[in-house]
Amino acid sequence: MIERVLLGDEALAQAAVDAGLSCAYGYPGTPSTEVMEYLISASGENGFKAMWCTNEKTAYEEALGASLAGKRALVTMKHVGLNASADAFVNSALLSVNGGLVVCVADDPGMHSSQNEQDTRALAAFAKVPVFEPVSQQEVYDMTREAFEVSERFGVPVILRMVTRIAHSRASVRLSEKRPQNGLNKSSDKTGWMLLPATAKRNWARLLEKEKQFHSYSEESKYNTLKLTGSKIGVITGGLGDNYFRENAGDLPQELSRLHIGFYPIPTDKVRRLYESVDEILVIEEGYPVIEEQLRGLLGPGKPIHGKLDGTVVRTGELTPDNVRAALALPPRPCGSVNASDVIVPRPPALCKGCPHADTFAAVKAALTGHPQSLVTSDIGCYSLGALPPHSAIETIVCMGASVGMAKGAAEAGLYPVVATIGDSTFLHSGMTALIDCIQNNTDMTLIILDNSTVGMTGGQPTMIPSSRFEPLVRGLGVDPEHIRTIVPLPQQHDKNTAIIKEEIGHRGLSVILAVRECIETAKRRARKTK
Ligand code: SF4
Repeated sequence: MIERVLLGDEALAQAAVDAGLSCAYGYPGTPSTEVMEYLISASGENGFKAMWCTNEKTAYEEALGASLAGKRALVTMKHVGLNASADAFVNSALLSVNGGLVVCVADDPGMHSSQNEQDTRALAAFAKVPVFEPVSQQEVYDMTREAFEVSERFGVPVILRMVTRIAHSRASVRLSEKRPQNGLNKSSDKTGWMLLPATAKRNWARLLEKEKQFHSYSEESKYNTLKLTGSKIGVITGGLGDNYFRENAGDLPQELSRLHIGFYPIPTDKVRRLYESVDEILVIEEGYPVIEEQLRGLLGPGKPIHGKLDGTVVRTGELTPDNVRAALALPPRPCGSVNASDVIVPRPPALCKGCPHADTFAAVKAALTGHPQSLVTSDIGCYSLGALPPHSAIETIVCMGASVGMAKGAAEAGLYPVVATIGDSTFLHSGMTALIDCIQNNTDMTLIILDNSTVGMTGGQPTMIPSSRFEPLVRGLGVDPEHIRTIVPLPQQHDKNTAIIKEEIGHRGLSVILAVRECIETAKRRARKTK
C-alpha cells in the first residue's frame, strides 16, 4: 500500500487520478487552487487532461461535456465560484450524468481570502445534489473516490465540500488501487441532456425520485455514524465540528450520544433515532446552520435544539476547539501566558513592493483630484488591496466582474467621472459581458484593465490570453479605437499616465485604458525558470 503526505487539496486531486479521471477543469480561487495545480503537473504522465478555464461556469460546462462523453470529470472552484457557475450547476442536477462528475468546492469559513463565508451545502441542497464533507485528508481521498461511484450510480453531479483547514493542511494518506479511465461512451439517453420544457419536466420528476435514493444511501453511509449512549444531550456534528468535538469529548462527564454527518442529504431516520433518545440536541457544524435548520423543519417544535441559531455555537467565522468547548459548557482550558515581545504584531495585507497596480492607482488618484463626485469601482484580485492605505484608491469590491456594470449604473445615475478598475483575468472571467452593455450605450466612463499577465492573487496562474490580445479584443467588441489607450504603470511614467487618464475621463463617452506591466512576482518566477 502506498502512503503519502498530502495537502487536503492534493489528496482530492490524487483520488481523482486514482479513480480514473479523464478531464479536469477549474478556475483558481483560494482555498481550492492547489487541486488543479497538482492535476496540471500530474496530467502529462497520467494521460488525463487538466486545465484552467476562463471562469467557473465555462469550467463546469466543459466538465459536463466530458461526462456526456462517458468520461470521469472533475471541476474545481472556491465557494463563490459556485455562484458564477450556478446556472450550469443547478440545471445539471436534472441531467443524465454519464461519466462520473465530481464538483470540488472549497469553502472559506472565516473569510481568510474571500468576500463572504457562504456554505456550499446550502446551494447543494437547493439543487438537490449529494454532498460529501470530509474531516481528514484520508476522508478527502476516500470520499472523492466514492463520489465518482455515487455520481455514476445515480447519474448526478456530486459535490466534495472542502474547507480551508482541510484543503490547506497536510496528513498521511493511504492510496488505494488505481482504476482505469472510462472508455469513450456517449450518453444514449437522448432526452437526459436536453432541458426543453417537456424533457425538463420529466427530468425534474426523475431527480425527485433520485432524491429518495440519496436519502436511502445517506442512511447506509459509513460516513453518517450514530452512537447512542443513553445521555440526555445528543450531539450532531458536521464537517470539522467532528474534530473539535472529539478534542473536547474526554473532558465531558459522560459520553454523549452522537450522530456525525459526512454525506448529505442528512440521514433523517438516524436524526429521528437520536432525537427520540435524548432530551435536547446540540448541533456543531462548520459554516451555515444547514443541518440545524433542516432539523427544525424535520422535527418541528418540541425538544430544544441548540446550535448557531440560538447562539450556543458561534455564528460567524470558523469553529475552533475553544469555541466548541464553550458550546459544550466546558470551562476554558488553562493556557500559559505569552511575553508581549513574543506576540506577532498583525500586519495588514499589502501590494508587493513594486507592484504595477500601485502605480496605476497613484495615477488614477492624481487624475481624479478636484472631482468630488467621482467614483472608482473595482473588483476581486490583488488590486482589491487598493482599498487600503496608502492607496485608498478604490471604493467598491463586490464580486467577480461587478466593477464594470456598477460603473455603468453609477455613471447613468449621474456620477462623474466614473472609473472602473479590473484585472485582466477578472475582465475575461465576467467583466467582458458588462463592457458590451457599456459599448452599446457609449457609457460615460473609463474602464482600466489592469493587465499584469497573471492571476496574481492565487499564485500566478497564467491569464487565458496574452497581453497582446487585449487591445484587439476590446476593439473587436466595439470600443472606439481612438479611446483605447495603453499606459505602462511605472513610477517614472506617473505624469504621462495621469495625463492619459485625465484625457479619457474628459472624453464624455466610453474609454478603455490598458495598464500593462507584468506582476513582479510572476516576472521573478519566470526569471528563475529561465536561469
Ligand atoms: S502578486 Fe503581483 S499583482 Fe499581486 S500584489 Fe504582488 S506584484 Fe502585485
